[in-house]
Amino acid sequence: MIRTTFWGVRGSIPTPGPQTNHFGGNTSCVEVDCGGTRIIFDAGTGIRQLGATLAKKAPLTLHIFFSHVHWDHIQGFPFFVPAFTPGNTLHLYGAANSRGTIETAMAGQMEAPNFPVKLSDLPSTLVFHDVAPGQTIEVAPDVKVTAAAGTHPGGVLVYRVDHAGSSVVYATDTEHKPGRLDRRIVELAKGADIFIYDSMYTPEEYDGCVSGTPRVGWGHSTFEAGGAIAKAAGVGQYVLFHHDPDQDDAAVREKERRAREVFENAMCAYEGLVLELGERGEAQAAG
Ligand SMILES: [Zn+2]
Ligand SMILES: [Zn+2]
Repeated sequence: MIRTTFWGVRGSIPTPGPQTNHFGGNTSCVEVDCGGTRIIFDAGTGIRQLGATLAKKAPLTLHIFFSHVHWDHIQGFPFFVPAFTPGNTLHLYGAANSRGTIETAMAGQMEAPNFPVKLSDLPSTLVFHDVAPGQTIEVAPDVKVTAAAGTHPGGVLVYRVDHAGSSVVYATDTEHKPGRLDRRIVELAKGADIFIYDSMYTPEEYDGCVSGTPRVGWGHSTFEAGGAIAKAAGVGQYVLFHHDPDQDDAAVREKERRAREVFENAMCAYEGLVLELGERGEAQAAG
């Protein structure tokens, strides 16, 4: 069984407050539990709350896959309690390029004077893994994670998890080309049960009709592009993710309504959403 839990669904910057109470204001963090093997996508501020639920469970082995190292995807890590627990082993996976590795990025954000604890002083065991697009990593027997490249300033990895005949795709911080399908993502998402996709903008926000500033080249996508990929790839459930910080609950609800006109089985991710994939691979909201 695969159990997917959404701990942070907001894009770019945390947006707490009454306007975002329903969908939530924490940044990217999604947990995919594959029959006890825990895979975590990104360490945005949402990971703090996940850490709280794992605090008393040492010794733990966790696998954290980073899409990229923009702040909203790494900022929660220094507040992730399992990293401060001796006996825990944390595997951290991410891209390596000319700007560095996942290890240098994680160490960098915890350097003085920005943070009081150094990455190298954490009492858990950290194991770093460089990942390249096209690579498949066997995290455990029958738990496979495959990486592909998305389109984002500085680069991004999108991932697919396969376990026991079910699959979840995590594709955030990636931009579409207007009017064209991103074949790499369609390929990765083929037949996936759950397709989590960067649906930050409405088409009007993306074009600049709303604010006068187009979002073209900013590295994010729309529900229209997400719905088209969901259709082409034949996914089970399309989950809109990485909501724009300027969208209040009413705006996200409206985005969801419009997304359903493009792909019927679409829903906006919210903090606390749990999707369970059972025997038949059909996504069911568990809470
Ligand atoms: Zn982001
Ligand atoms: Zn980003």
